Amino acid sequence: MQPVRRLESLFDWMQEPAVGAIVAAVTAEGAILRFVGGCVRNGLLGRPVSDIDAATDAPPEQVVTLLERDGIRAIPTGIEHGTVTALKDGRKIEITTLRVDVETDGRRARVAFTDDWAEDAMRRDFTMNALFLDADGTLYDPVGGLPDLESGLVRFVGDPEQRIREDVLRILRFFRFHVQYGRIGPEPEGLAACARLAGLLPSLAGERVREEMLKLLAARDPAPTVYLMREQGVLTPILPEARNLPCLSALATLTGSQEEADPDPLRRLAALISAGEDAGEGSGEAVAWRLRLSNAERARLLAMVTPAIDIDPAADAPARRRALYRVGADIFRDLVLLDWAQRRADQTNAVPDWVEGGYRVLLATAEGWTRPVLPVGGVDLLELGIPAGPKIGTLLKRLEDWWINQDFAPDREACLAQIQGWRDA
Ligand code: ATP
Ligand code: MG
Repeated sequence: MQPVRRLESLFDWMQEPAVGAIVAAVTAEGAILRFVGGCVRNGLLGRPVSDIDAATDAPPEQVVTLLERDGIRAIPTGIEHGTVTALKDGRKIEITTLRVDVETDGRRARVAFTDDWAEDAMRRDFTMNALFLDADGTLYDPVGGLPDLESGLVRFVGDPEQRIREDVLRILRFFRFHVQYGRIGPEPEGLAACARLAGLLPSLAGERVREEMLKLLAARDPAPTVYLMREQGVLTPILPEARNLPCLSALATLTGSQEEADPDPLRRLAALISAGEDAGEGSGEAVAWRLRLSNAERARLLAMVTPAIDIDPAADAPARRRALYRVGADIFRDLVLLDWAQRRADQTNAVPDWVEGGYRVLLATAEGWTRPVLPVGGVDLLELGIPAGPKIGTLLKRLEDWWINQDFAPDREACLAQIQGWRDA
């Protein structure tokens, strides 16, 4: 494999001592280790690199031995597919032995190890994901990924249809990488193959779909690609609940730029599956189940899709605080952004300034908010001589409602006096 060029300076992450130690351990007996995938792709684009993937010609068992010999933790993450995770000082590198997929069924592959770098490049999904980088900065490009990366074109390695039949997830990855790196395209042959084979999508495991969809939705502006996915018939098979593309579109312009720096994929998913009147609990539950969301994610998605409060951009300060108290600052913020996006999506003319201003005030209220605590508890009621039992709970609830309606102002003394008042009445 011929190098194409040498980096002028090494990427920051390549210079970390932990990365150097892992490379030194694996290559100590003459094996070769090269970085590959996202870390090389993003490094070349000057984008942040989160996880590091590498390839090596050493078999996985040997990788484990070499790492452990140097006191580096080796986790056999997917050892039957050749993947070992090296862990040192909080830095993680996924090291995968060069391989070819010898047998595939659209979901899993039986693999064979090889020492041929070009063969390993051929089993990778897109040309921009098959660039290899030596620890000294030498760059290899066996399948022509560099020009595609530079022009922003997501292109399958080899025949798109065959590559999708090997692993159907590549349909979703095609759109996900297009969202993140596409500046032209999408590449017509790849796109046509995705559309043709969309019927295979329901066979995918929920967790794999979830990972790609959440990464796609976390991009700065995923909406045009989501429209494209629907048009090509690849959205409905994985997410039949995705009805509200205009809301996603509006939310992305809110959250991808002005209102916050960090787009939230779950909130965008909520926008996509919400549909005002007829949304209902059903779609949130179905999506949470199908995408195997965690309990916390599921709860948040449902809270967004079936709101427990009405968002009103004209609400006065006490009403804003009441709403915040009901759902908490995080969900409140989600609901404000979603309502704002829906308003923009519904309105053919621009949303009036005072309404936009109202939403900004709502967000600002959530910013510095700390949840007030009812200054009286069950013990206080017992001390007032109220007998233990369900009455205590009922009284406390009544007191809380009263206290909320007084804008959380009554202190402990006032609360106790109020209870006395009710008893005397
Ligand atoms: P990121 O980590 O930023 O999401 P990545 O390119 O590192 O992007 P990973 O899912 O971590 O993506 O995969 C690492 C590399 O493994 C990819 O760059 C690609 O070369 C290869 N790869 C991953 N999944 C597949 C797949 N389904 N088919 C073919 N190759 C794949
Ligand atoms: Mg990666």
